[in-house]
Amino acid sequence: MKSYTQYLWFNTKNRQEIINITAQVEEAVKKSGVKEGLCLVNAMHITSSVFINDDEGGLHHDFLEWLEKLAPYSKNKYRHNLTGEDNGDAHLKRTIMGRAVVVAITQGRLDFGPWEQIFYGEFDGQRKKRVLIKIIGE
Ligand code: ZN
Repeated sequence: MKSYTQYLWFNTKNRQEIINITAQVEEAVKKSGVKEGLCLVNAMHITSSVFINDDEGGLHHDFLEWLEKLAPYSKNKYRHNLTGEDNGDAHLKRTIMGRAVVVAITQGRLDFGPWEQIFYGEFDGQRKKRVLIKIIGE
């Protein structure tokens, strides 16, 4: 069995951003040489997500607006912020949007459903954070 590991680094300009990382993951699959297997893509921080959905700007706006309704940014609203942090909202947003995705690799390519793309969701950015790509297979 082959195994391949790669990290992607992010330092977003804004506190919250949604970034399409499909091309970088496809590149990693190519480098891995795996033709049949599985690809894990995993946010390595508890205030950012990796998720799969449509690459449509209106939808990304809807996600951020929906998350802001569920867990609005606030310095005073969250118990977590009693620790001196201000990112209680970002932990909740991350949990809703997910930690990681697994995509099958078939004939050397990511085996997506219609319109599926992989996204990095940042909810407490403006600092260096990373995503793990782990590929296993033959
Ligand atoms: Zn925190």
